[in-house]
Amino acid sequence: MILALETSCDDTCAAVLRDDGTIASNVISSQGIHDRYGGVVPEVASRHHLELVNAVVGDALRQADTDLDGIDLVAVTQGPGLVGALLVGIVTAKAIAATRGLPLAPVDHLQGHVAANFVGPDPFEPPFVCLLASGGHTLLARVEEYDGFEVLGRTLDDAAGEAFDKGARMLGLPYPGGPALERLAADGDPEAFTFPTAKNVAGLDSSFSGLKTSLLYAIRDLGEEETARRAADLAASYQSAIVRALVDRCERALDQTGLDRLTLGGGVAANGPLRAAAERLGANLHVPDRALCTDNAAMIASAARFVAPVAHPGYLQLDAYASGERALA
Ligand code: ATP
Ligand code: FE
Repeated sequence: MILALETSCDDTCAAVLRDDGTIASNVISSQGIHDRYGGVVPEVASRHHLELVNAVVGDALRQADTDLDGIDLVAVTQGPGLVGALLVGIVTAKAIAATRGLPLAPVDHLQGHVAANFVGPDPFEPPFVCLLASGGHTLLARVEEYDGFEVLGRTLDDAAGEAFDKGARMLGLPYPGGPALERLAADGDPEAFTFPTAKNVAGLDSSFSGLKTSLLYAIRDLGEEETARRAADLAASYQSAIVRALVDRCERALDQTGLDRLTLGGGVAANGPLRAAAERLGANLHVPDRALCTDNAAMIASAARFVAPVAHPGYLQLDAYASGERALA
């Protein structure tokens, strides 16, 4: 079995995956304290990871009904993410592996989001197009293999999740904004306001900064009282613009690659209207369970099945990386 740790942002996660790719446990401890700052404070996140990580690993082993004797491989997110936060997971993974004489598999976080699709008992097999839409990234990828992907397009500015978070903040909603904005939008009319979907951005790239500015202007023009009264309509229209932009890029990617298999990954893939709109594209669609879309360690363990494990003492050199798309085909 694989024990995986994921601490790239503000969730402290550990999971145990069986060798057939099914989940034995998937523990996620969300640090509720970042809400008061309207976003994740890196140093606060690191300190909380330190406090939580041992208990979360203990819970993951217990819920999997095993202990370290049952573990054959330790996996950990190496990057991209907040370096201080990543280091807590990496140091913990190294310590567990070293004391138990186990190999260690360093995993790329984005490859983890893609590998959420490989979790059993019903894995989705390549080749497919993957829309990876998260808090820090918006990529369209061609996935031909289990251990990498080719980037076909990316956002030119904000990530889709960032657009959700920033829009939510403008509407006075708590962090993380995506789920809160989705809930508010459920009572609104998606056609009440017209927001731009960056149709003019060519190819498979996307852009969300213009949309964000449009919401800002709409709120300014409406004034405080009217904004409050029409908050659900604003949220629904704003969400609809993000969803339309993303689904449009998926459609273009399917056309361009000639593939007819599509997956969604990353936190934004938890969004109900996005999932519904992607379904209407007519491709063979696979979307991981919501809990596997937002950050979790089961997806890291899933990716680790296809990473060459590093033996002791080689992995003691492993360092975190903050950005970039490493380990890509
Ligand atoms: P990255 O994976 O790029 O490093 P991250 O790990 O911080 O970034 P994820 O945890 O994959 O990002 O996704 C978090 C993002 O997903 C946040 O921006 C959040 O608002 C968004 N999100 C989560 N649930 C929903 C939802 N239901 N609707 C829309 N957005 C959502
Ligand atoms: Fe993520």
